[in-house]
Amino acid sequence: MRVGVPKEIKNHEYRVGLTPNSVRELVTDGHEVVIETEAGAAIGFQDSDYEDSGASIVSDAAAVFSQADMIVKVKEPQAQEVALLEARHTLFTYLHLAPDQELTDSLIKSRATCIAYETVTDAQGRLPLLAPMSEVAGRIAVQAGARSLEMEAGGRGVLLSGAPGVPSGEVLILGGGVVGSNAIRIAVGMGAQVTVLDTSLQTLRLLDQQYGNRIHTRLSTRTAIDEYLPQADLVIGAVLIPGAAAPKLIEAEQLQHMQRGAVIVDVAIDQGGCVATSRPTTHDDPTYVEQGVVHYCVANMPGAVARTATQALNNATLPFVRALASMGPRKAMHADEHLLNGLNVAAGQLCNMEVASSQGRMC
Ligand code: NAD
Repeated sequence: MRVGVPKEIKNHEYRVGLTPNSVRELVTDGHEVVIETEAGAAIGFQDSDYEDSGASIVSDAAAVFSQADMIVKVKEPQAQEVALLEARHTLFTYLHLAPDQELTDSLIKSRATCIAYETVTDAQGRLPLLAPMSEVAGRIAVQAGARSLEMEAGGRGVLLSGAPGVPSGEVLILGGGVVGSNAIRIAVGMGAQVTVLDTSLQTLRLLDQQYGNRIHTRLSTRTAIDEYLPQADLVIGAVLIPGAAAPKLIEAEQLQHMQRGAVIVDVAIDQGGCVATSRPTTHDDPTYVEQGVVHYCVANMPGAVARTATQALNNATLPFVRALASMGPRKAMHADEHLLNGLNVAAGQLCNMEVASSQGRMC
């Protein structure tokens, strides 16, 4: 099969659909790969790296779409990319169609086969192509929080590791799932005092087994939040209720009980945020201060570390890209129900129940 990778054109998106390593695997499998020039240049994957891996470089997205049968991307296609999609194409990328009726309609109209990373499942019912970005976001959360605690950012001037003779900072993590457990790992590594709250006893049990007395685990209740909030230097919001908006665990009036210059990193902002005073920010201007508390609420945190994020994403997507290229989309999805769950649009039809019901449509 001919696999094509256009350069991402969404504002501030530096990730790329395939790394040179992934290209080499596909070429070794007997496929041809076409890459738009400079597609990975911003994150250090030069055209020459792709050529060394066996890809051909083409001058623009139109050439990628006209030569390739399958398009591998990162973000949902922008209008000028949708205009290049044809019925013969398979599109494999994040789509996030639920809130986007216009994109859904245009993909239906293209009649292309559109498989969304975010709805591919695994045998445990998890979302294996979302997990790498949660892992990355959890790790950045502590880094972003540590930076926001510095004076220039409006923070209270606390170093999470402490210093000899000075206590380390206190980190409160709401939700111990993929984001939360990765945040714990980094915060513990920095030497912070870490408390994690979760509603799942099983999650708390696993974290307790893993970290022993290096962290505190508490069942997430209003009382536990009230108790820990006043002493926290950094609060990381990492909760998720699948398919629903994030629950508001911290109300606006509770901020007055926090220390001036404490920091909230609300990773759950892409689901509306778990703090009442959170509103989405961007990498250009990531923080704002409300009631003396610094808020960091960037909705696409992995974009800050686009090279690592691209590699992490490719580790998860590559087996599916190889299957789609080797068997063709129809056979690959027939052979793997989890990949089939990724199918959102095909042959002019919407095929994902959740997307359809969120838009009040049938499929
Ligand atoms: P996950 O399902 O792995 O973990 C969520 C955890 O929250 C679970 O352990 C669950 O038991 C817990 N939880 C639910 N309700 C709770 C409550 N009331 N109190 C405490 N814990 C509660 O999800 P995840 O992959 O870790 O994602 C967490 C959030 O981060 C999601 O909203 C996700 O969309 C978001 N996210 C944001 C970015 C970003 O760039 N901002 C990137 C990746 C993920």
